[in-house]
Amino acid sequence: MELTAERLNLYRFLTLKLADDDLYPHYRYGENFTLDEIKFFWRRTVKMILDKKAPKKLGLYIHIPFCHQKCNYCMCDSYVPFSYGQVSEYLALLKKEIGYFSDLFKDVSFTSIYFGGGSPSFLRPVDLDNFLRFIYGSFSFSHDCQVIFEGTPTDLNEEYIDLLMRHGVNRFTIGVQSLDSKVIRNIKRPQTREKFVRIFKYLRKLGAPWINVDLIAGLEGQTKESFVSDVKLMLDLGVDMVHASGFSPLPHTPFSRQGKKFTLENERLRDEMMEAFEEITKNNTGANALEDGAGYKDGAENLQETDLRKENSSLLGIGYSAQSHAFAQAWYEHPCLTHLKKRPTYNKLPLFRGVRSSLKEEMIKFIYNNLQSGFSRRLFRSLFGMDATKVFKREFLLLSKLGKVNIKGDRIIFQVGPEHLIYSKIFYSKKRLRDILKIHGHSYRENKDYRKELERFYPEIYLSRENIG
Ligand code: SF4
Repeated sequence: MELTAERLNLYRFLTLKLADDDLYPHYRYGENFTLDEIKFFWRRTVKMILDKKAPKKLGLYIHIPFCHQKCNYCMCDSYVPFSYGQVSEYLALLKKEIGYFSDLFKDVSFTSIYFGGGSPSFLRPVDLDNFLRFIYGSFSFSHDCQVIFEGTPTDLNEEYIDLLMRHGVNRFTIGVQSLDSKVIRNIKRPQTREKFVRIFKYLRKLGAPWINVDLIAGLEGQTKESFVSDVKLMLDLGVDMVHASGFSPLPHTPFSRQGKKFTLENERLRDEMMEAFEEITKNNTGANALEDGAGYKDGAENLQETDLRKENSSLLGIGYSAQSHAFAQAWYEHPCLTHLKKRPTYNKLPLFRGVRSSLKEEMIKFIYNNLQSGFSRRLFRSLFGMDATKVFKREFLLLSKLGKVNIKGDRIIFQVGPEHLIYSKIFYSKKRLRDILKIHGHSYRENKDYRKELERFYPEIYLSRENIG
């Protein structure tokens, strides 16, 4: 068995078509689900958790889409409300949605909660207090539950932090992005270095267990020196984890909408900043800074994200743009506010769109998630009760013929690097490929070689590599 040139060409074509959303199992190619169907999925997943047939880690994600301003680089599903009345309306809607599910989860405990956005710190203290009480009254949580809250340096203050600590928040994630006053002006983010340092020290004084800071490289007007100075400040302060990402001018960011250009020179500078970030953190902490979710200190990582990625845990998402995963039943999401044509009236939730899952689909998702880092066969067996190399014998044989996989005892190591985007397609289920081809198949030209196009689009796949997909 071999990967024919035709098949490889099809995988290149699909890699190009899925470029904006190359994340198995590709919800967009799915179907709409009713509330009853979603409840049915969860009933089965909860039973599997209780019967020890599904991972027992269970996350709760709550999306608060509001912000005081739209930052110019922002690609999140966030939105400046007309008035605070809209926020109250949205919170009422979230409570209603939680009400649909609380009974279904009465016999299991959530092991993580993530308040993301937007800016959850946009909520007024009194509303946040009420909302958190409502959540704690609706579900059960494990004693070691990681409670993550995203906040901005502008919104957070001593009173707000006291409130969050009282409610058990134990991982604060502060969206800083940059502390350079010129960059802050350019990106329209009203914050100061002094305020950030003040709230950070206050969090430390109160003994906040984990503090994560987000930074962005390649922002408008940012120099390598200013970015590096921000990274060093975080390390000097003793931040538990710095999550840095490179700016990418996606079409729906205000940056792109204003017709601004991100030149090749900007790209080069951004990449240099990210390299500097990797080097500084490695030298100072030994951490692999670019591996998403890796904390500098044990336990600092976002457990909800790592549980989902490394163990296929289940996740109940509440609110616009929230994503959910009911193990072996479905992956689904709510619509994004930014994708809705009209401003929402906040009476439409819940709306669900997604794809059905099965044990085999869970295994594919696991391999997809761990294609770059590799994984342990023992872990795979403990999650799915089967040996990965037996279930995917054909696929492993194929990759091994190409020299793309190395099985050393318990460890499966893939040698695919950035071209995992192409080789991951080998594992796709027939149904998933069929659904994607139903949408894109008409533009596929058998006689066209998609390698050149892919090379232009994803130069990193082909850079200094020979004989690859
Ligand atoms: S970057 Fe954060 S604070 Fe700024 S608009 Fe986006 S979600 Fe809101």
